[in-house]
Parts: sequence; C-alpha cells; structure tokens
Amino acid sequence: MKKLFSLLLVCNFGINILSCLGIKKLGKLELKSYYSDYLSKINNINLAYLDTTEYIIPNEIFEVYKKSIGEKSPCVAFYLKQNYMGYFEKRKFINELKRKGYDEKDIAFYLAVLTKEKAVVIKECALKKRYFTSLLLHERIHKELDKLPREDYNKIMEAVKFIIKNVKFKPSKGSSYSLSYLEEIIKKSNPEEFIAYLLQGEIDKSTEKFLKKKFPHVYKTLDKIKTKVRNSLYNFKVNQKFFK
Ligand SMILES: [Zn+2]
Repeated sequence: MKKLFSLLLVCNFGINILSCLGIKKLGKLELKSYYSDYLSKINNINLAYLDTTEYIIPNEIFEVYKKSIGEKSPCVAFYLKQNYMGYFEKRKFINELKRKGYDEKDIAFYLAVLTKEKAVVIKECALKKRYFTSLLLHERIHKELDKLPREDYNKIMEAVKFIIKNVKFKPSKGSSYSLSYLEEIIKKSNPEEFIAYLLQGEIDKSTEKFLKKKFPHVYKTLDKIKTKVRNSLYNFKVNQKFFK
C-alpha cells in the first residue's frame, strides 16, 4: 500500500504529467481517505475478500482505462503484471476523464492505482456478480504465477504449450465456459490463461491428471498455487476494516 501512494507520476520526458495537465498530485493521506470514502459508498459484502493490493474501480473509469491502453476484450478485471500506461496512455486517460467531468482528485487517485504494478484492478459491477470469487481466484492465480522464479515459470509454460498442442481438453462438468470460449481465449492470449482456467477448475480433470503424469514437477508447483489461492478465498479472514 505504502508504495502505491509514493508512486512517481513522471512521464518519459522527465516532466510530471499531472502538472503538465494542470492536476495537483495528492498526498498519501488524501489518497487513502479518497479510497475509503469511495468504498464506504459501495457497501458490498464482496469487498471483504479484497486484500490491500486489490482495487475496485468505478465502471466508467475502468472502461476509460481499457480504452487508453487499447484493451478491446469485455474483461472486468486485470492483474497488472506491469504498468501498461506510458506517457501517451496517461495523457489519453487524463484528457478523457477531464472531458467526462471528473475532478483532479478522481484523476490523480485512479492514475496512481492504475499505474501500480502487481495490483489487481476490478470493475465495480463485478462485485455484484455471482462469479466474483471465481474472478478473484483467477486474478490471484496470475499474481502467484508472476511470483515464481523465471526457471519454474518457463517450465510451466513449456508444459502448457505441450498440452494445448497435444491434449484434447474440454470444459469441466459445471463449468461456466464453453469449449469454443476457452479455445478462443487460449488462442488469443498467452498460454498463462490456460493455467488460470485449469487451476480455477474450469477445465476437465483428465487434463490435470495428464499434467501430473507427464510433468510431475510442474504439477507440484501448480498444485501448491491452487491450494494457496483457494485457501486465500475460501478460508479467508474477513477484512474487518470494511465493516467498522
Ligand atoms: Zn486471465
């Protein structure tokens, strides 16, 4: 959390973008109280699941962010593996929000959150969905994969590529996704998506069994991640700060 509020919003040319565009940077406390005020207005039970690196973003702002970074899919959450906003994306984001009538505080706050690396950002409307925990589980899997040593990560990717090419996978019983949807996602995105859906339980068990047999070391690593993220959601401690 501390790091987020000390973000330096400096553009590629060494100029502070916020001051370039006439926006005053907010102090740490202002940023904190801004977010608490916003969350208290939402008042949704699912907020309790979130940790301090997972942020809810108002629907309109989330869409402006997606447009600014050129994301065209209908997704409602991201794990920010890296900061996807360079100088031009930030400028687009700021100008669009100004045009929509947002004030400096709103812009400064959301720019700070959306340029944070290793955070999860979720569109506000997703809080009301039945699949909210499943969505959070998916993003946390990406977060855990990102923490792995490069060597382990590469081994996983090799195994996944092998599976995608050689194994006829299908959605698990009761999965909310069709085979064509999963195939499309996997084709469009990097193979990491396959792992996220597999660990989420959306892909048939036989694929996991195949992985266990053919790539036992990879399976062991992934099984640890699966247990960790599942426990973080289903055995979680209610984050009391939202209920004070
Ligand atoms: Zn994903």
